Amino acid sequence: MIPEFANKVLIWFDQHGRKDLPWQQHPTPYRVWVSEIMLQQTQVATVIPYYGRFMQRFPDVLTLADAPQDDVLKLWEGLGYYSRARNLHKTAQRVRDEYACVFPTDRADMETLSGIGRSTAAAILSLSHGQAHAILDGNVKRVLARYHAVAGWSGEPRTLKQLWEHAEHHLPTQRNADYTQAMMDMGATLCTRSKPLCLLCPLQDGCKAFQQGKPQDYPGKRPKKDLPEKTALALLLRNNDGELLLQHRPPTGIWGGLWSFPEFADETAMADWLAQHFAQTCIVAARLPTLTHTFSHYRLHLQPLQVDLDAHPARIMEGNGWLWYKADTHFTGGLSAAVRQFFQNIE
Ligand code: SF4
Repeated sequence: MIPEFANKVLIWFDQHGRKDLPWQQHPTPYRVWVSEIMLQQTQVATVIPYYGRFMQRFPDVLTLADAPQDDVLKLWEGLGYYSRARNLHKTAQRVRDEYACVFPTDRADMETLSGIGRSTAAAILSLSHGQAHAILDGNVKRVLARYHAVAGWSGEPRTLKQLWEHAEHHLPTQRNADYTQAMMDMGATLCTRSKPLCLLCPLQDGCKAFQQGKPQDYPGKRPKKDLPEKTALALLLRNNDGELLLQHRPPTGIWGGLWSFPEFADETAMADWLAQHFAQTCIVAARLPTLTHTFSHYRLHLQPLQVDLDAHPARIMEGNGWLWYKADTHFTGGLSAAVRQFFQNIE
Protein backbone atom coordinates (compact mmCIF):
# COMPACT_ATOMS: atom_id res chain seq x y z
CA MET A 1 0.00 0.00 0.00
CA ILE A 2 1.53 3.30 -1.10
CA PRO A 3 1.03 6.18 1.40
CA GLU A 4 -1.32 8.96 0.25
CA PHE A 5 1.31 11.63 -0.37
CA ALA A 6 3.49 9.34 -2.50
CA ASN A 7 0.45 7.95 -4.30
CA LYS A 8 -0.62 11.42 -5.45
CA VAL A 9 2.92 12.19 -6.57
CA LEU A 10 3.15 8.92 -8.52
CA ILE A 11 -0.20 9.39 -10.24
CA TRP A 12 0.94 12.86 -11.31
CA PHE A 13 4.28 11.41 -12.47
CA ASP A 14 2.58 8.79 -14.65
CA GLN A 15 0.83 11.56 -16.57
CA HIS A 16 3.28 14.46 -16.47
CA GLY A 17 6.70 13.30 -15.24
CA ARG A 18 9.80 13.44 -17.42
CA LYS A 19 10.69 10.09 -18.90
CA ASP A 20 12.91 10.91 -21.85
CA LEU A 21 15.91 12.63 -20.28
CA PRO A 22 19.20 11.18 -21.59
CA TRP A 23 20.26 9.78 -18.21
CA GLN A 24 16.89 8.02 -17.83
CA GLN A 25 17.82 5.80 -20.78
CA HIS A 26 19.93 2.83 -19.52
CA PRO A 27 20.10 4.31 -15.99
CA THR A 28 23.29 2.64 -14.79
CA PRO A 29 24.88 3.98 -11.60
CA TYR A 30 27.60 5.60 -13.73
CA ARG A 31 25.18 7.43 -16.02
CA VAL A 32 22.94 8.52 -13.14
CA TRP A 33 25.92 9.63 -11.06
CA VAL A 34 27.31 11.88 -13.82
CA SER A 35 23.87 13.43 -14.37
CA GLU A 36 23.33 14.03 -10.65
CA ILE A 37 26.67 15.82 -10.31
CA MET A 38 26.05 17.93 -13.42
CA LEU A 39 22.55 18.82 -12.25
CA GLN A 40 23.81 20.27 -8.95
CA GLN A 41 23.29 24.04 -9.23
CA THR A 42 22.55 23.66 -12.96
CA GLN A 43 19.32 23.49 -14.99
CA VAL A 44 18.37 20.39 -17.00
CA ALA A 45 18.37 22.30 -20.31
CA THR A 46 21.97 23.45 -19.73
CA VAL A 47 23.12 20.00 -18.65
CA ILE A 48 21.75 17.99 -21.62
CA PRO A 49 24.38 18.99 -24.24
CA TYR A 50 27.22 18.73 -21.69
CA TYR A 51 25.99 15.31 -20.66
CA GLY A 52 25.88 14.10 -24.29
CA ARG A 53 29.47 15.24 -24.96
CA PHE A 54 30.68 13.77 -21.66
CA MET A 55 29.11 10.37 -22.31
CA GLN A 56 30.52 10.28 -25.80
CA ARG A 57 34.06 10.94 -24.55
CA PHE A 58 33.75 8.97 -21.27
CA PRO A 59 31.18 6.19 -21.86
CA ASP A 60 32.12 4.31 -18.68
CA VAL A 61 33.83 4.77 -15.36
CA LEU A 62 37.11 3.22 -16.53
CA THR A 63 37.46 5.61 -19.47
CA LEU A 64 36.83 8.52 -17.14
CA ALA A 65 39.24 7.26 -14.49
CA ASP A 66 42.02 6.73 -17.06
CA ALA A 67 41.62 10.14 -18.74
CA PRO A 68 43.92 13.08 -17.97
CA GLN A 69 42.28 15.63 -15.66
CA ASP A 70 42.70 18.31 -18.36
CA ASP A 71 40.32 16.37 -20.65
CA VAL A 72 37.68 16.17 -17.91
CA LEU A 73 37.95 19.88 -17.10
CA LYS A 74 37.78 20.76 -20.80
CA LEU A 75 34.38 19.06 -21.13
CA TRP A 76 33.23 20.88 -17.98
CA GLU A 77 34.29 24.28 -19.31
CA GLY A 78 31.39 26.71 -18.84
CA LEU A 79 29.43 24.57 -16.34
CA GLY A 80 31.16 26.20 -13.36
CA TYR A 81 31.76 24.79 -9.88
CA TYR A 82 34.81 22.94 -11.15
CA SER A 83 35.33 21.06 -7.91
CA ARG A 84 32.44 18.89 -9.17
CA ALA A 85 34.53 17.82 -12.18
CA ARG A 86 37.65 17.23 -10.10
CA ASN A 87 35.65 15.12 -7.62
CA LEU A 88 34.04 13.20 -10.48
CA HIS A 89 37.49 12.30 -11.78
CA LYS A 90 38.78 11.38 -8.32
CA THR A 91 35.73 9.22 -7.60
CA ALA A 92 36.04 7.42 -10.94
CA GLN A 93 39.60 6.51 -9.99
CA ARG A 94 38.49 5.19 -6.58
CA VAL A 95 35.70 3.14 -8.17
CA ARG A 96 38.27 1.72 -10.61
CA ASP A 97 40.89 1.00 -7.95
CA GLU A 98 38.82 -0.04 -4.94
CA TYR A 99 35.61 -1.40 -6.46
CA ALA A 100 36.87 -2.95 -9.72
CA CYS A 101 34.85 -0.38 -11.72
CA VAL A 102 31.52 -1.36 -10.09
CA PHE A 103 29.84 1.33 -7.99
CA PRO A 104 29.05 0.28 -4.40
CA THR A 105 25.42 -0.57 -3.77
CA ASP A 106 25.46 0.39 -0.11
CA ARG A 107 24.53 3.99 0.63
CA ALA A 108 27.12 4.42 3.38
CA ASP A 109 29.91 3.22 1.03
CA MET A 110 28.62 5.46 -1.71
CA GLU A 111 28.75 8.48 0.62
CA THR A 112 32.48 7.99 1.19
CA LEU A 113 33.15 8.87 -2.47
CA SER A 114 34.27 12.43 -3.23
CA GLY A 115 31.43 14.76 -4.19
CA ILE A 116 28.66 12.32 -3.18
CA GLY A 117 26.59 13.35 -0.18
CA ARG A 118 23.55 11.70 1.37
CA SER A 119 21.01 12.95 -1.17
CA THR A 120 23.18 12.23 -4.22
CA ALA A 121 24.00 8.72 -2.98
CA ALA A 122 20.30 8.11 -2.36
CA ALA A 123 19.36 9.40 -5.82
CA ILE A 124 21.95 7.21 -7.57
CA LEU A 125 20.85 4.06 -5.73
CA SER A 126 17.18 4.85 -6.14
CA LEU A 127 17.28 5.75 -9.84
CA SER A 128 19.68 3.01 -10.92
CA HIS A 129 18.76 0.16 -8.53
CA GLY A 130 15.28 1.13 -7.31
CA GLN A 131 16.50 1.12 -3.69
CA ALA A 132 14.18 2.90 -1.23
CA HIS A 133 16.09 5.98 -0.08
CA ALA A 134 14.77 9.48 0.49
CA ILE A 135 16.43 12.30 -1.42
CA LEU A 136 16.59 15.98 -0.52
CA ASP A 137 17.98 18.05 -3.36
CA GLY A 138 17.05 21.70 -3.86
CA ASN A 139 13.80 20.90 -5.67
CA VAL A 140 12.62 18.41 -3.07
CA LYS A 141 13.52 20.76 -0.23
CA ARG A 142 11.28 23.39 -1.80
CA VAL A 143 8.30 21.04 -2.22
CA LEU A 144 8.56 19.70 1.33
CA ALA A 145 9.24 23.09 2.93
CA ARG A 146 6.07 24.43 1.29
CA TYR A 147 3.92 21.39 1.88
CA HIS A 148 4.78 21.34 5.59
CA ALA A 149 5.37 25.10 5.95
CA VAL A 150 8.91 24.60 7.26
CA ALA A 151 10.00 28.20 7.69
CA GLY A 152 13.76 28.11 8.32
CA TRP A 153 16.66 28.20 5.88
CA SER A 154 17.68 24.67 4.89
CA GLY A 155 21.33 25.50 5.59
CA GLU A 156 20.42 25.51 9.30
CA PRO A 157 20.92 22.02 10.81
CA ARG A 158 17.56 22.18 12.63
CA THR A 159 15.62 22.96 9.49
CA LEU A 160 17.54 20.41 7.45
CA LYS A 161 16.77 17.74 10.03
CA GLN A 162 13.05 18.55 9.83
CA LEU A 163 13.10 18.32 6.03
CA TRP A 164 14.90 14.96 6.11
CA GLU A 165 12.30 13.66 8.57
CA HIS A 166 9.51 14.68 6.20
CA ALA A 167 11.35 13.16 3.23
CA GLU A 168 11.78 9.85 5.09
CA HIS A 169 8.19 9.90 6.31
CA HIS A 170 6.71 10.15 2.80
CA LEU A 171 9.01 7.55 1.25
CA PRO A 172 7.12 4.70 -0.44
CA THR A 173 8.47 1.17 -0.35
CA GLN A 174 7.34 0.53 -3.93
CA ARG A 175 8.18 2.34 -7.19
CA ASN A 176 10.99 4.19 -5.47
CA ALA A 177 12.84 5.18 -8.65
CA ASP A 178 9.68 6.72 -10.10
CA TYR A 179 8.93 8.49 -6.83
CA THR A 180 12.46 9.97 -6.69
CA GLN A 181 12.19 11.22 -10.25
CA ALA A 182 8.65 12.49 -9.59
CA MET A 183 9.71 14.58 -6.60
CA MET A 184 12.55 16.13 -8.61
CA ASP A 185 10.17 16.83 -11.50
CA MET A 186 7.53 18.38 -9.29
CA GLY A 187 10.05 20.80 -7.84
CA ALA A 188 11.45 21.64 -11.26
CA THR A 189 8.21 22.02 -13.19
CA LEU A 190 5.32 22.69 -10.75
CA CYS A 191 6.55 23.90 -7.40
CA THR A 192 8.97 26.34 -8.98
CA ARG A 193 10.89 28.99 -7.06
CA SER A 194 8.97 32.10 -8.11
CA LYS A 195 5.67 31.08 -9.72
CA PRO A 196 4.49 27.70 -8.42
CA LEU A 197 1.62 26.20 -10.43
CA CYS A 198 -0.41 25.30 -7.35
CA LEU A 199 -3.66 24.92 -9.29
CA LEU A 200 -2.14 22.01 -11.21
CA CYS A 201 -0.44 20.45 -8.20
CA PRO A 202 -1.62 17.07 -6.88
CA LEU A 203 -0.46 18.05 -3.36
CA GLN A 204 -2.57 21.20 -3.17
CA ASP A 205 -5.12 19.73 -0.70
CA GLY A 206 -2.58 19.13 2.04
CA CYS A 207 -0.13 21.94 1.26
CA LYS A 208 0.20 24.36 4.17
CA ALA A 209 1.97 27.07 2.18
CA PHE A 210 -0.83 27.00 -0.39
CA GLN A 211 -3.44 27.21 2.37
CA GLN A 212 -1.63 30.24 3.79
CA GLY A 213 -1.62 31.78 0.29
CA LYS A 214 2.13 32.39 0.37
CA PRO A 215 4.14 29.53 -1.13
CA GLN A 216 6.97 31.92 -2.08
CA ASP A 217 7.70 32.48 1.61
CA TYR A 218 9.09 28.93 1.76
CA PRO A 219 11.74 27.70 2.06
CA GLY A 220 13.25 30.36 4.32
CA LYS A 221 15.94 32.45 2.68
CA ARG A 222 19.62 32.25 3.49
CA PRO A 223 20.47 35.14 5.85
CA LYS A 224 21.95 37.96 3.78
CA LYS A 225 25.66 38.38 4.10
CA ASP A 226 27.73 40.77 2.01
CA LEU A 227 30.28 38.91 -0.07
CA PRO A 228 33.86 40.05 0.54
CA GLU A 229 35.39 41.83 -2.47
CA LYS A 230 38.89 40.97 -3.63
CA THR A 231 41.00 42.58 -6.31
CA ALA A 232 43.98 41.24 -8.23
CA LEU A 233 45.95 41.98 -11.36
CA ALA A 234 45.85 39.54 -14.26
CA LEU A 235 48.96 39.62 -16.41
CA LEU A 236 48.25 39.41 -20.14
CA LEU A 237 51.79 38.80 -21.27
CA ARG A 238 51.92 38.84 -25.07
CA ASN A 239 54.78 37.46 -27.12
CA ASN A 240 55.79 38.40 -30.67
CA ASP A 241 53.42 35.76 -32.07
CA GLY A 242 50.44 37.42 -30.35
CA GLU A 243 50.10 34.56 -27.86
CA LEU A 244 49.31 35.12 -24.19
CA LEU A 245 50.93 33.29 -21.32
CA LEU A 246 48.61 31.00 -19.32
CA GLN A 247 49.40 29.30 -16.05
CA HIS A 248 48.06 25.93 -14.92
CA ARG A 249 46.36 26.67 -11.62
CA PRO A 250 46.85 24.42 -8.59
CA PRO A 251 44.36 21.53 -8.32
CA THR A 252 42.31 23.09 -5.52
CA GLY A 253 40.89 26.57 -4.99
CA ILE A 254 39.16 28.76 -7.54
CA TRP A 255 39.49 27.59 -11.15
CA GLY A 256 41.51 24.69 -9.71
CA GLY A 257 43.20 22.66 -12.45
CA LEU A 258 42.21 25.17 -15.16
CA TRP A 259 44.48 27.40 -17.23
CA SER A 260 44.37 31.09 -16.47
CA PHE A 261 46.34 34.34 -16.63
CA PRO A 262 49.05 34.70 -13.99
CA GLU A 263 47.69 36.79 -11.11
CA PHE A 264 49.44 39.25 -8.86
CA ALA A 265 48.46 41.28 -5.83
CA ASP A 266 49.95 44.50 -7.24
CA GLU A 267 52.16 45.96 -9.96
CA THR A 268 55.31 45.69 -7.88
CA ALA A 269 54.88 41.93 -7.53
CA MET A 270 54.16 41.67 -11.24
CA ALA A 271 57.23 43.75 -12.16
CA ASP A 272 59.47 41.64 -9.91
CA TRP A 273 58.19 38.46 -11.50
CA LEU A 274 58.71 39.76 -15.04
CA ALA A 275 62.22 40.90 -14.24
CA GLN A 276 63.03 37.54 -12.71
CA HIS A 277 61.64 35.37 -15.53
CA PHE A 278 62.14 37.47 -18.66
CA ALA A 279 64.62 40.19 -17.70
CA GLN A 280 61.74 42.36 -18.84
CA THR A 281 60.76 45.80 -17.63
CA CYS A 282 57.08 46.00 -16.77
CA ILE A 283 55.73 48.49 -19.29
CA VAL A 284 51.97 48.25 -19.36
CA ALA A 285 50.76 48.46 -22.98
CA ALA A 286 47.05 48.48 -22.09
CA ARG A 287 44.78 48.43 -19.06
CA LEU A 288 41.73 46.46 -20.13
CA PRO A 289 38.26 46.60 -18.54
CA THR A 290 38.02 44.84 -15.20
CA LEU A 291 36.67 41.27 -15.25
CA THR A 292 34.40 40.50 -12.29
CA HIS A 293 33.62 36.96 -11.15
CA THR A 294 31.40 36.01 -8.25
CA PHE A 295 32.30 32.85 -6.40
CA SER A 296 30.28 31.34 -3.57
CA HIS A 297 32.48 32.94 -0.91
CA TYR A 298 33.79 36.16 -2.51
CA ARG A 299 33.68 38.46 -5.50
CA LEU A 300 36.87 38.87 -7.50
CA HIS A 301 37.70 41.96 -9.57
CA LEU A 302 40.51 41.17 -11.95
CA GLN A 303 42.27 44.08 -13.62
CA PRO A 304 43.93 42.76 -16.80
CA LEU A 305 47.19 44.51 -17.66
CA GLN A 306 48.69 43.82 -21.04
CA VAL A 307 52.47 43.70 -21.19
CA ASP A 308 54.21 43.07 -24.51
CA LEU A 309 57.47 41.17 -24.46
CA ASP A 310 60.22 43.13 -26.12
CA ALA A 311 62.42 40.08 -26.43
CA HIS A 312 62.27 37.32 -29.03
CA PRO A 313 59.10 35.19 -28.64
CA ALA A 314 59.65 33.54 -25.35
CA ARG A 315 59.35 29.78 -25.31
CA ILE A 316 61.33 29.40 -22.18
CA MET A 317 58.26 28.81 -20.04
CA GLU A 318 56.44 26.41 -22.34
CA GLY A 319 55.52 23.20 -20.50
CA ASN A 320 55.82 22.77 -16.76
CA GLY A 321 52.48 24.37 -16.03
CA TRP A 322 52.84 27.21 -18.56
CA LEU A 323 51.33 27.63 -22.00
CA TRP A 324 51.46 30.25 -24.74
CA TYR A 325 47.93 30.50 -26.05
CA LYS A 326 45.80 32.33 -28.60
CA ALA A 327 42.21 31.82 -29.71
CA ASP A 328 42.99 29.33 -32.48
CA THR A 329 45.45 27.26 -30.44
CA HIS A 330 44.40 23.61 -30.39
CA PHE A 331 44.42 22.79 -26.73
CA THR A 332 42.48 20.19 -24.78
CA GLY A 333 42.80 21.67 -21.27
CA GLY A 334 40.06 23.68 -19.54
CA LEU A 335 40.25 27.47 -19.55
CA SER A 336 39.21 29.67 -16.63
CA ALA A 337 36.16 31.93 -16.94
CA ALA A 338 38.52 34.94 -17.03
CA VAL A 339 40.35 33.61 -20.10
CA ARG A 340 37.14 32.61 -21.86
CA GLN A 341 35.57 36.00 -21.12
CA PHE A 342 38.66 37.80 -22.38
CA PHE A 343 38.69 35.93 -25.69
CA GLN A 344 34.92 36.34 -26.13
CA ASN A 345 35.29 40.10 -25.64
CA ILE A 346 37.93 40.43 -28.34
CA GLU A 347 36.23 38.16 -30.92
S1 SF4 B 1 0.46 23.37 -3.79
FE1 SF4 B 1 1.84 24.85 -4.66
S2 SF4 B 1 3.29 25.29 -3.03
FE2 SF4 B 1 2.22 23.43 -2.45
S3 SF4 B 1 3.55 21.80 -3.17
FE3 SF4 B 1 2.06 22.20 -4.77
S4 SF4 B 1 3.02 23.69 -6.16
FE4 SF4 B 1 4.18 23.64 -4.24
